[in-house]
Formats: sequence, structure tokens, C-alpha cells
Amino acid sequence: MGHKISNVEVFYVSTSDCAGVGDSTLRYDIAEMTVVEITTEDGLTGHGITIRDDMAALIEHRLKPILLGRDPMDTEDLWNEMLLNMRGSGRKGLCLVALSVVDIALWDLKGKILGQPLHKLFGGSKREIPTYASGGWTSYSLDELLAEMKSFVDLGYDTIKMKVGVDLGKNIKEDARRVKAVREMVGPNIDIILDANNVWDSGTAVRFAELIKDCDIAAFEEPAPADDIPGLARVRRALNIPLATGEHEYTKFGMRDLLLSGAVDIVQLDATKAGGYTEMRKVAGMTQAWNLLFAPHCFEIIHMHLLSAASNAYKLEKLFLFNGIMRRCLKNYPEPENGILTIPDLPGTGLIYDMDWIRANNELK
Ligand SMILES: [Mg+2]
Repeated sequence: MGHKISNVEVFYVSTSDCAGVGDSTLRYDIAEMTVVEITTEDGLTGHGITIRDDMAALIEHRLKPILLGRDPMDTEDLWNEMLLNMRGSGRKGLCLVALSVVDIALWDLKGKILGQPLHKLFGGSKREIPTYASGGWTSYSLDELLAEMKSFVDLGYDTIKMKVGVDLGKNIKEDARRVKAVREMVGPNIDIILDANNVWDSGTAVRFAELIKDCDIAAFEEPAPADDIPGLARVRRALNIPLATGEHEYTKFGMRDLLLSGAVDIVQLDATKAGGYTEMRKVAGMTQAWNLLFAPHCFEIIHMHLLSAASNAYKLEKLFLFNGIMRRCLKNYPEPENGILTIPDLPGTGLIYDMDWIRANNELK
């Protein structure tokens, strides 16, 4: 064999091309990523990417000692050992983000060892995956919002996402005006997704939805806080709009709670947070058992492999906010054409990381 893991490295990188953009509950001044590189004794490298947060010490002190000397093919065993090692400090949140980015790097290595792209290892034959265009920030003026939504349609997307919850969620009448203006501009044949990013209580979310009930909304995302699962279930029952949630949920256990509560139609758990490919393949199976749509949050370059193999795939989320940082991190950043993302025909994740740029711009240490 000779594929034993010999090193695990963490990098933090950022670009400053999204200053001042905001949704109902967060502002973004820089685009930031964590990149992990796992190296084997015989010189192979696998990479993972996720949001940036202070996970380097977790990876260095808790996960790396488990990984050194091990076979990267053993993803199930390694996942369980890593989770149990961190059980006292967190089975959700940052610990899971750290585990996720490591797991993605292990699967990248597994694909390279076997000489197969991950979607083939998952059993998917499709390389062309539909995507939707995501932006429409609440920090935009109405004119800026309309201009961006038009630009998405002009690029060939048939599904677009905009944020709602302007003025920190205190102005639902203005939200309704913005949604109606976008619907009027794009006409009846474009699907519109609304994302409230956790801002409302369930009652306000239902009241807002009543204001836009003639707008034919394709999905209503995180109308209430991710942890208000009963509230999300209430919104779902009250409306004839599919409810999307899951980007702030972790592992198969979090998936179970959303399912048993009847709180979701479109499942958006994110492999870069919820447990990597190892856990997300199980999550995908659970969504199939409930006959729900599977539409992982953001990171389309990671999720394309999962959607290739999912019979209940909705669409990948193309978040335009990340274009700048992704174009720097990757030498072959795959970008959709007419809303279709083509999976690179390369082993593993199929992504070629620009490690020279990442090392030169590493903000860690
Ligand atoms: Mg969202």
C-alpha cells in the first residue's frame, strides 16, 4: 500500500472583495476559507475546504494525532474516532466543521488512490448538475437587487435566490415590495427562492408569506432560527411554499430531528459543516427515505459529487459572493454555464488547489 498519512496542514486565506454585503442577520467584510491538505508517505495530497473559523488548533491537536500513520481509505473508522475524540467539546458547531474539512480531504485522497472522481465512487454517472444563482442581499438597494437578479437571469439561470429580512427583519412590508418587484421583473418562468437567514419568529414568517402569496415562491429558507425546529414546522404546515432548511444542522442526528419534526421539504445540510462526505451520504439516504428534495447549502464544488448520485437532487447553490476567493484558491474553479455546472473529469474532488497562492497568503500563525 504505502498510502499512510504523513502530514495534515491547515491554512486560512481571505479576499476582501465582498465588503459590506449583508443578509438579515450577518454582514460580510471579507471572504474567508479554511483549506486542509493531507499528505501521504508516498506523496499524494488530498484537500478539503470550508468556511474559516478558529479550527486549526482542533485539527492540529485533536484530529491530526488520530490521522497520522493511518490509511485514508478508512473513512468510516476515522470519522467515528474523530467524533468520539471530540465528544466532550462538541458534536455540533466548530468541532464538526473541523471534522468535515478533514473528511473531505480524506475522500479527495481516496479518489486519487483509486483514480476515480468522487461522483463515480458514490455511484453517480451525471457530470452536468443544475445550479441556482444565489445573492440578492438585504444590504442592496432595490435597484441593486433588481440589477443582480437580472444579471443572474441573463447568465441563463432559471432559479434565483434573494435574501429577505431587511432592517434586521423589522420591515416585512418592504421585504414584500422587494419580492414583488423581483417577480414582476423576471416574469412567471423563473423560480424564486427566499432566504430569511433565521431572522423571524414563526408567526412573523407566516404573516410575511401571506403578503407575497401571489408571487409563486419556489422555496422559503430558514424563516425562523435553525434551532426553532417546532417554529419551522409551524411555518411549513401553515404555508403552501416548500420550506428549506438545514445549513445550520449537523450530522445524521440533526437530520433525524428535522425529519421527525416535519420541519423541512428541501434539505440543505452542508458537507463542509455537517460531517463531510462520510456523513452527507447518510443524510442523502435519509432524505430519500422521506421523499424530500436534497439541495446542500453553498459549496457547489464539494456538493456536485453528492448531487450526481442523488435520485432526489434539487439544485446546487452557486453563491456569487465566493467567486473571488474560489478563483484564488482553485486553479480550475468550475463555474456554471447557463446554470449547469460540469464536474471536472479528474480523480477525487476534481479540484486543483493553488497551494502556492494558499501558502503564500496563509494567515495562520
Ligand atoms: Mg441560506
